[in-house]
Amino acid sequence: MNDNKLPFWKTKTFSQMSKQQWEQLCDGCGLCCLHKLENADTGQVSYTDVACRLLDIKTCRCKKYTQRKKLVPDCVILKPEDISRFKWLPRTCAYRLISEGKDLYPWHPLVSNSDHSIHSNNISVKDKVISERDAGDLEDHIIDISKISHE
Ligand code: SF4
Ligand code: SF4
Repeated sequence: MNDNKLPFWKTKTFSQMSKQQWEQLCDGCGLCCLHKLENADTGQVSYTDVACRLLDIKTCRCKKYTQRKKLVPDCVILKPEDISRFKWLPRTCAYRLISEGKDLYPWHPLVSNSDHSIHSNNISVKDKVISERDAGDLEDHIIDISKISHE
C-alpha cells in the first residue's frame, strides 16, 4: 500500500499531525480521567473507579473540555512533546499505543468508524465508575483496571 493510502497515524509523527488529527486519536474511553493513587514507597500507581467531577459517565467525555485546565488544574493535557510521559496512560490508549510503535485496535473510532465501538467492546468507563462528588475516600475505591476495561 502506498504511504498516501495509509491512515495518518501510520504516516505522521505526533508533531506532524494537525490539531484535529491529534484530537481524533483520543478514543473517548475516559480511563485517563479516573483518579489514581501512587504508593509512596513503591511508586506503583493504582486506578480507582472514581472519575473526575467533570467526566460525563454516560458519554465518557469531559463536560467542559475547552476549560478543563482552568477548572481542574490537575487535568493533564497531552501534547506531542510529552511523549516520554505517555507510559502512565492505560495500555489501550491510542497515544500510548502509537508512542510504542503499535497500531490502533479495531474498536478505535478511527478504525471502526463508530463512536459506539469503544463502549460495546467494553473498553470505556461508561456506567462503570462514579463521580468524585459521590465517592468519599479514594483509598476505598482502588480497583483492578482490567475489571473495567478489556481489550
Ligand atoms: S486514555 Fe487516552 S484514549 Fe482514553 S480518553 Fe484518555 S487520552 Fe483518550
Ligand atoms: S477535566 Fe475533563 S479531561 Fe480533565 S480529567 Fe477531568 S474530565 Fe478528564
